[in-house]
Amino acid sequence: MDKQRDFVLRTIEERGVKFVRLWFTDVLGTLKSVAIAPAEVEGAFSEGIGFDGSAIEGLTRSYESDLLAIPDPSTFQILPWRGEVDPTARMFCDITTPDGQPAPAEPRNVLKRTLAKAADAGFTFYTHPEIEFYLLKSRKFGAEGPEPVDRAGYFDNVPGGTAHDFRRRAVRMLEDLGISVEYSHHEAGPGQNEIDLRYADALTMADNIMTFRTVVKEVAIEEGVHATFMPKPLAQEPGSGMHTHMSLFEGDVNAFFEEGAQYQLSRVGRQFIAGLMRHANEISLVTNQFVNSYKRLWGGDEAPSYVTWGHNNRSALIRVPLYKPGKGGSARIEYRAIDSAANPYLAYSLMLAAGLKGIQEEYELAPEAEDNVWALSSAERRALGYRPLPTSMYDAIQLMEDSELVAETLGEQVFRYVLANKRREYDAYRAQVTQYELTSTLDVI
Ligand code: GLU
Ligand code: MG
Ligand code: MG
Repeated sequence: MDKQRDFVLRTIEERGVKFVRLWFTDVLGTLKSVAIAPAEVEGAFSEGIGFDGSAIEGLTRSYESDLLAIPDPSTFQILPWRGEVDPTARMFCDITTPDGQPAPAEPRNVLKRTLAKAADAGFTFYTHPEIEFYLLKSRKFGAEGPEPVDRAGYFDNVPGGTAHDFRRRAVRMLEDLGISVEYSHHEAGPGQNEIDLRYADALTMADNIMTFRTVVKEVAIEEGVHATFMPKPLAQEPGSGMHTHMSLFEGDVNAFFEEGAQYQLSRVGRQFIAGLMRHANEISLVTNQFVNSYKRLWGGDEAPSYVTWGHNNRSALIRVPLYKPGKGGSARIEYRAIDSAANPYLAYSLMLAAGLKGIQEEYELAPEAEDNVWALSSAERRALGYRPLPTSMYDAIQLMEDSELVAETLGEQVFRYVLANKRREYDAYRAQVTQYELTSTLDVI
């Protein structure tokens, strides 16, 4: 730790860094940033930087508002988009109470707590996300909705197009920040793109996702376009998911891999999937946290709507991807419900907690879904035991209210805050009279 701190202080000096941004995340997953002068960094490491936690969504109750941000030196990076002149760097922070205890409601702490539980059971949790987002001509929109930057589709190569240039710049910037990119391509929707990050432990990955969103927004501004991670910005086009591939390792060994087993999937892997399936609905308010998220889940276009798993089945909630023989280390499962607007710290905490529960309680895995789940009739789905995911945020709120797993994992404060915040959002939404209602009803009755 001291070595890392020394490295940061030396780099600030050598590179002439003028500002250091301290980053952390509120409960809804919005990035917060405070810039400090280089001379303050040493003190920030030893004593932290004080701030009013009650002014940040969900972090504290107002009667215990003082919090400290203590930068994590292992996350030090110079921000490439700020340029070479007067460089700016950033570090993610650990948030503590004034007596040095981890702040209970801070999302990074929630994930650390959950990862510690996994570590007690002997596991390290790795993730890699496929992050989808839209590029729009502007953040402004008319009656037709937002206007995407192009009309291209899945894997389209658009020479000279905005998206091509955009991805190249974004990927380069991510690599400069130490975030490895595995794939990037145009997605199915017009203006929709996807960038897949190389796997990392879940805490590093949640930090990387926060950085990723900032990079994408910054590059969009430079390119004169608008980037959005909204789950379903265009009603007639696919939504933006953040499918996440997950694996558990015991030391160097991938605990999901078993040579000769069905799909080479170990018992632990099967139980992890069973845990995710049993708890998918109650964690949905966090993996899919906006009113709009449910329009993606129920809008077709390869977003999952039913709690099923399958081998390479893209209509399933959980997919067990193919991997090359001899590559047991890459055994993993893909969770397809989570969308691009989720708070990665909280969502990954709950996905891990659900999987671990399956392992601890030795849940049985239901048979896999071999069919296109959407093409079945509702009677067929019922007969096969395929339950729907919540159809609206209202359902998701009800389901989370009763969840012991979510309360225990998020902790009392975050649990209550998310529910209260989401009830308010749903009430505000319910009070709207929409364009759809006016056009379909005004003249009819
Ligand atoms: N956009 C789809 C979703 O919302 C996913 C498409 C894909 O399979 O990559 O989940
Ligand atoms: Mg995709
Ligand atoms: Mg996928």
